[in-house]
Amino acid sequence: MSVHLVKNTPGVIGVLDLQGGVHEHLEHLERLGIPYAKVKQPADFTDLAGLIIPGGESTCLARLLKIFELKEVILQHCSRGMKIWGTCAGAILLANRVVGDQPCLGLIDMEIERNSFGSQLDSFKSEALIEAVSADLIPLTFIRAPKILRVGSDVQVLLRMEDYIAAAENEGILVTVFHPELTGCLALHRYFALKCGLSPAVENASAVNRDWDNVSWMKLARIAS
Ligand code: GLN
Repeated sequence: MSVHLVKNTPGVIGVLDLQGGVHEHLEHLERLGIPYAKVKQPADFTDLAGLIIPGGESTCLARLLKIFELKEVILQHCSRGMKIWGTCAGAILLANRVVGDQPCLGLIDMEIERNSFGSQLDSFKSEALIEAVSADLIPLTFIRAPKILRVGSDVQVLLRMEDYIAAAENEGILVTVFHPELTGCLALHRYFALKCGLSPAVENASAVNRDWDNVSWMKLARIAS
């Protein structure tokens, strides 16, 4: 699928285009029929309804946010109502407490621990029911993922696993420690679009399209082992 980008108008979801899984999020938004844009310059954020901070490497992303002078820009647009979804490294950037590290954006009251499952080789796939998001099981892909250890009283837990929280939200911020953009399932993207006040074209977003399952990271893990 070719990804075409739209000029920013209200109703657009932006994907932060600094590092990490940018393209995969754009493709999911396209499949949902939601207008989207890659965002990188301060002016790109004007009028965005929502921003996705993709997974990647949080230390690298934090440095790039500084170099591109985007931290203040994101905080300003968040306070005017732009919603933000952080996947994995994106969730780390949004937390106000990071074990052994400095927080970056501090927009959601939660404590998160980086690389909490181990190394890249300890990455895994699973599935779970997230009642607020979908009536169907949602496939989950964890890649050198963090664990959310605890959340504040204004944060709703969307998915609790054994000893950690995997998805949570407050009024403006959604966080997932897994990667919905690497599965064929659109349910989390649909949920975020609705949170942004948009109307996704796709109704049954939890019907997994196997053709879209992205397992390249698993192949790499097998080669390395
Ligand atoms: N381990 C990465 C970090 O700490 C996050 C990995 C990911 O986004 N898949 O930033």
